[in-house]
Amino acid sequence: MSEDAPKKTTRKTRAMTLADVRSFLEALARANPNPESELHYGDPFTLLVAVVLSAQATDASVNKATAGLFAAAPTPAAMAALGAEGIAPFIRTIGLWQGKAKNVAALSQVLIDQHHGAVPHDRAALEALPGVGRKTANVVLNVAFGEPTMAVDTHVFRLGNRTGIAPGANVRTVENGLVKRIPADLLREAHHLLILHGRYVCKARTPECWRCVAAEWCRFPDKTLPPRIKPPKPCNPA
Ligand code: SF4
Repeated sequence: MSEDAPKKTTRKTRAMTLADVRSFLEALARANPNPESELHYGDPFTLLVAVVLSAQATDASVNKATAGLFAAAPTPAAMAALGAEGIAPFIRTIGLWQGKAKNVAALSQVLIDQHHGAVPHDRAALEALPGVGRKTANVVLNVAFGEPTMAVDTHVFRLGNRTGIAPGANVRTVENGLVKRIPADLLREAHHLLILHGRYVCKARTPECWRCVAAEWCRFPDKTLPPRIKPPKPCNPA
């Protein structure tokens, strides 16, 4: 999930009120009633692998790689049998592919050895898998098991701070703030709503505030105006 550095602002965003947090997210939900991950997967195992592969890579590049990989190895047993050397040719186009190939082979083997070949519905067990950190565990718990977790990637971290929903200096502070301040009934889908809003509207360098459906509740003090359209040059009379 590579991203340009955010545009510097001199003014600080004030924290959003809890009522406005609800209104902000409900506005995003009205515009996008069925927010979903853009990673392609078929079950908890392929979701887990796709998320592990997505570190510092775009979802589109991961989807290109996993189309062939999941056809060749759709289960932990098949993936472990493929091994790191067999996985590598499928994922060479994405960043950090050597380490990721080793991790995917190793985590598949752990699933077979310790979890009867299934992805565990348990944070500690997920985070004990090779290549799986808190963010990946949060995505799997949220998407595969319906848990109200908040995975903080570059987009969610930026939005938490920029909008005022949950300002914080580090990822864990923002995660804790989001979990605490987002209403329970919106928390599960808020994960996707914030990622997609950050990817397509509230972009890193220049947020497109003029077309933001939640601008009314956002506390960002430097909201952007629409780009100016140059008037057409007058025709020279013959
Ligand atoms: S108003 Fe601008 S800064 Fe605020 S959420 Fe929308 S796009 Fe982002």
